[in-house]
Amino acid sequence: MTPRPIYLDHHATTPVDPVVVAAMLPYLTEKFGNPSSRQHLFGQEAHAAVEEARAHVARLIGAEPGDIVFTSGATESNNLAVRGAARAPGSRGRHLVTTAIEHPAVLEPARTLEHEGYEVTVVAVGPDGLVATDDVARALRPDTVLVSVMAANNEIGTMQPVAEIGRLCRERGILFHTDAVQAVGRVPVRVDEWETDLVSISAHKMYGPKGVGALYLRRARRPRVRLQAQAEGGGQEKGLRSGTLNVPGIVGLGEAARLAAEALAAGEPARIAALRDRLLAGLRREIDGVEVNGSSERRLPGNLHVSIARAEAETLILSLGGRIAISSGAACAEAGGKGSHVLRAVGLPDERIYTALRFGIGRFNDADEIDEAVKALAAAVDTARSRASAAPR
Ligand SMILES: *Cc1c(COP(=O)(O)O)cnc(C)c1O
Repeated sequence: MTPRPIYLDHHATTPVDPVVVAAMLPYLTEKFGNPSSRQHLFGQEAHAAVEEARAHVARLIGAEPGDIVFTSGATESNNLAVRGAARAPGSRGRHLVTTAIEHPAVLEPARTLEHEGYEVTVVAVGPDGLVATDDVARALRPDTVLVSVMAANNEIGTMQPVAEIGRLCRERGILFHTDAVQAVGRVPVRVDEWETDLVSISAHKMYGPKGVGALYLRRARRPRVRLQAQAEGGGQEKGLRSGTLNVPGIVGLGEAARLAAEALAAGEPARIAALRDRLLAGLRREIDGVEVNGSSERRLPGNLHVSIARAEAETLILSLGGRIAISSGAACAEAGGKGSHVLRAVGLPDERIYTALRFGIGRFNDADEIDEAVKALAAAVDTARSRASAAPR
């Protein structure tokens, strides 16, 4: 039997931690109740489990449990935040500010609002993949209702100055949303220090299950955030997100949050950053023409994004023969066929984009896997380059 590939694609998704699976299982079997059915034990135990999960998620980001709304994932959280804030009754205007490297789950709802007559200012990023707070400040207007800037980018891993942007927005009384999917559980996230009003979270990027997420929205303290609900129905989640709660998923998210808090306290980010540095050092030692894309300083611990000269990424991944699970840098915008909007926004030339690889290192990787990945990549680069030079011109 061929061994499973080494998984180095933790920005796409993460494996579910076995501890999380164990916590979820009873809620798929005997504890199957609907948390809204409070008259009997089944509903009561489901309700209690959801509230415990809510407390774990809140604690991880320094929020109050009442500030957490469960959703079907961060795509829904982002849509609820962006559309919900813009369309809230009494909102201060019809202008939004976001950045060129946001996830499509922010950019697409912003575009939809534009078709409805809202104005959207898209702030550029520098060659380091960072947005300048001054540029955000210049984009603000008296009728700006929402600023949405992600905490950490899912391709190049760059971490934006969210605390500075939060302060700026708070001073002007403008709502600030941050898509923190890639940051939560990987680096410390404190909603009060960041002065954020809305924060999107996804379970499957932090060793929880797919199809469940959360939106933090500040309600316990002032100024309270008002949103227009996007799904109407039974009035669950204080009317902000109707629909029977995904109890096993929510329990999984809660347990993943509890484990993440432990892992952060136990130094997991430093351990993962050391593996990332080992990977980069190995690649530089074995392969010539390795260039890092995006800021090296303000970057997620497990992220490495490189371009390898004269080794087209798709060819390289084929040459790897399925031994290492990674993504080509352009993969995130395959549907459009124009290459990643993030790498374009950073201003990389075509040859850097088409030779770009994204590595995402996670909780269960070890040094042996990193060394094996370096070896496999070095061999695959040789193969890819010799194929390219042998190809007829
Ligand atoms: C994965 C991801 C999302 C979407 O989350 P889902 O839970 O898969 O809908 C949104 N934003 C970022 C930055 C992501 O990495």
